[in-house]
Amino acid sequence: MKDWKTKLIHSDTKTRQDFHSLTTPVYRGSTVVFPTMESIAIGWDQEEVGYTYGVSGTPTSLELAARIAELETGSGALLAPSGLSAISLVDLSYLSAGSHLLIPDNVYVPGRLLATNLLKRFGVETEFYPACVGADIAKHIRPNTHLIWTESPGSITMELQDIPAIAAVAHEHGVPVAMDNTWAAGVYFNAFEHGVDISLQAATKYVGGHSDVLLGSVTVRDASHWERIGETRSRLGLCVSPDECSLVLRGLQTLSVRLRHVEQAALQVAEWLEKRPEVETVLHPALPSCPGHELWKRDFTGSSGLFSIVFRREFSPEQVRGFVNSLKLFKIGFSWGGVTSLAAAYNVQRIRPHTEYGERLVRLSIGLEETTDLIADLEQAMKVFAPGA
Ligand SMILES: *Cc1c(COP(=O)(O)O)cnc(C)c1O
Repeated sequence: MKDWKTKLIHSDTKTRQDFHSLTTPVYRGSTVVFPTMESIAIGWDQEEVGYTYGVSGTPTSLELAARIAELETGSGALLAPSGLSAISLVDLSYLSAGSHLLIPDNVYVPGRLLATNLLKRFGVETEFYPACVGADIAKHIRPNTHLIWTESPGSITMELQDIPAIAAVAHEHGVPVAMDNTWAAGVYFNAFEHGVDISLQAATKYVGGHSDVLLGSVTVRDASHWERIGETRSRLGLCVSPDECSLVLRGLQTLSVRLRHVEQAALQVAEWLEKRPEVETVLHPALPSCPGHELWKRDFTGSSGLFSIVFRREFSPEQVRGFVNSLKLFKIGFSWGGVTSLAAAYNVQRIRPHTEYGERLVRLSIGLEETTDLIADLEQAMKVFAPGA
């Protein structure tokens, strides 16, 4: 007879294991056990060698990664604890001391800071190329260019990139192309059909969809990128919690209905804003008036709920911030892609001095509220622009 204290660890109870749930179980675990010493396999690729240790993946994380790869039509996907850590994983997979890195000048700001701070310390030189460069990317490629980032549309200022043109030139020079595909949720832009090698998403945004989880994914075109990024991920010890993966697996199930709703709602709001006298430009890729709209029309199959507006020049930064502060349904906050509509004013002057938007830009993320209520909220906040307000 075992002592009760031993039974706490090695119980003799038997419960039925035939619970055929529709959901993927949350498998927690660091250690996985092997039947014999001889059966122990070593390697980070759990699909290949079997499960060896929690840091390399669990059935929950591998299921989510496989589903994201399936949606994006890649050959495989690797997960990281946040979108930003996924960006750093790609950087560290391809760059070393002496490398030259190309990043579009409209890039997600923390990705820029990663390059100018940490990567610089490790001897990587970063060049910020004009986002609308197209085939002229050739002028920026050097013999030591080891990675080209793209992001379309760009964070905050929403420029569209000619990804096929960039990819064609990059491949002539043997340089891999990575894309931040978060805006299109990995589904409204097929990165691989347009020549991208590595498609990244902050699953924190649309795939998770509820502002309650942080996760990043890196989907790859083929086995060579899989090996390289998987190996680096293993060396770094990057791993993801099965609880977070479970939330994202749940979010995935409703991605299509949420995207369909926010696409329609964002277009309605954008079209309403376009007619407002206070607004100079609406930067929504699906609007014909948006710079780069032709590229969106050519390459994308839909639009999501994130876009920006630029107020007219006569309005002060205080008035623009006052507009955001006056919103009631729209909340002020970072991130996007959740069920709650968000707004934030940006000092574009500080991050992209070559643009003319100054401090007149407000980015909106449309959520699942009734669209007429959102428009009414924007309308009441416009009062701050009235003379004498
Ligand atoms: C939010 C965001 C990221 C980073 O995602 P986190 O999970 O918040 O780290 C990367 N790229 C873009 C375009 C984003 O908006």
